[in-house]
Amino acid sequence: MEITCDIAMDLVDIYSSSMASPDTVKAVREHLRTCRSCRDFYSEYKANLAEEKKKEEKNNRTFRTESSPYVSEEIISESVKRLSKKLRTRRIVSNVVSIFSVIVGFIVLAKDIFDLIDEKDK
Ligand SMILES: [Zn+2]
Repeated sequence: MEITCDIAMDLVDIYSSSMASPDTVKAVREHLRTCRSCRDFYSEYKANLAEEKKKEEKNNRTFRTESSPYVSEEIISESVKRLSKKLRTRRIVSNVVSIFSVIVGFIVLAKDIFDLIDEKDK
């Protein structure tokens, strides 16, 4: 079937979407083979389509990463690290506090003992 350039242009979208009927595919393919300007247009169209698709995929990927409901492993290990650091700091602080209270207790005790010794000497 012979089709005009206008018809070929109209059908290019369907033709490239692989949803065209066999007759349309045949007609467009035949026209593209014989018509150079439509062939050029079609190759440009296909290139644009591929470009658009690539861009869309890239956008989808970016979108998926940004809106991911899953926290990445990196973030988890980072927060675990931060938490264990916090716990370690707290443990050190409590160790220091208990050591300090032992020292204070020892000083108080020593003072009592010295007081007792002093009183004995009197
Ligand atoms: Zn043509």
